[in-house]
Amino acid sequence: MSALAAEHGALNLAQGFPNLPPPEGLVEAAVRALRAGVHQYAPMAGRPDLREWVCKHHSERHGYAYSPEHECTIGAGASSLLFAAIQAFIHPGDTVVVQAPAYDLYGPAVKLAGGQVAEVPLLDSDGQWDLSSLLQACTPQVKMVVLNTPHNPTGTVCPPGFMDALAAHLSGTDTLVLSDEVYGPIVHDARPEVSLAGCPGLRERGLAFGSFGKLLQATGWKIGWAVGPAALTAELRKVHQYDVFSTGAPLQAALADFLPTPEGQEHLSGLAGMYQSKRDRLLAGLQGTAWRHVPAEGGFFQVLDASGIIDGDDGHWARQWTRTHGIATIPLSAFYAPPSPMLRLCFAKDDATIDAAVDRLRHIAADHAH
Ligand code: PMP
Repeated sequence: MSALAAEHGALNLAQGFPNLPPPEGLVEAAVRALRAGVHQYAPMAGRPDLREWVCKHHSERHGYAYSPEHECTIGAGASSLLFAAIQAFIHPGDTVVVQAPAYDLYGPAVKLAGGQVAEVPLLDSDGQWDLSSLLQACTPQVKMVVLNTPHNPTGTVCPPGFMDALAAHLSGTDTLVLSDEVYGPIVHDARPEVSLAGCPGLRERGLAFGSFGKLLQATGWKIGWAVGPAALTAELRKVHQYDVFSTGAPLQAALADFLPTPEGQEHLSGLAGMYQSKRDRLLAGLQGTAWRHVPAEGGFFQVLDASGIIDGDDGHWARQWTRTHGIATIPLSAFYAPPSPMLRLCFAKDDATIDAAVDRLRHIAADHAH
């Protein structure tokens, strides 16, 4: 969709990247790191000071202190570590339970490792996280469950108690849990931030993943982390050692330098509010149109339901509107969901882009009403 958007000069609300600049202090820290001569390999597990920050971040937010030395790994974005974890633990014939629709990495990574994906619906017919379908799929033979909260693409967040119920169900099994928390602190309307790190029964059998790119409007830096018990971290690092090994030394230095500063702390504490106001700007602009929605609960994606506007295949209309109305979105069917008139929009955009998107979406609704 990004290529099609570029070809037609369309607004690109498809791919999940902010068009907002990173904090100025972070950019300055990167320049300082380059000038200070940080050009050689960082340690395989990541810079110790950056791992310390990650572990402190988890203990402050979720009340559990991972060990920077043995329980935290820095990689080339959360995706490299999710991929490494799946390669480390999944063997031919293993089953991995994934809630669908899902971020597009998990399925191919599982298949490459020789495993198979068992999809369960993320949401029940009331739009709530579907615990009973998940528990039903989690037989003792299941090797791994992948969770993602705040969720891409639906914008929902894991409800309180959900992880505890899963933990109770998995008790006595060897099932592992990967929790993709790259949008972790971005929760809206004062919802609690839910993490595997805060759930003792899952923490002992799982890894949680985070992304500096998502937190700092710097997705192109591709630096992320994984935290989890030493035994699981040791296995993860065996794969990480030979695929990525070491990533972005000057950028790691910049992150470790910037994040503990008052500007860094202020940035993180303002993050959820900033994205919530962008979500609200988008949804206020669409009021009174045939676009339907449930406001995103977290992250920076909003799903719009076009069933009041069109029938049928969301992929067709997403491509068509990129050409005819100059706005690119992602059809929800790209994330394993069956074709439905649902589109995902990234609202991590400056206000002018959001306003232009609203204008184009209003035109689509008006044009289809005729
Ligand atoms: N998980 C989810 C749910 C994502 O949306 C993304 C980025 N689109 C990633 C992982 C990858 O994060 P990173 O850029 O840090 O590799």
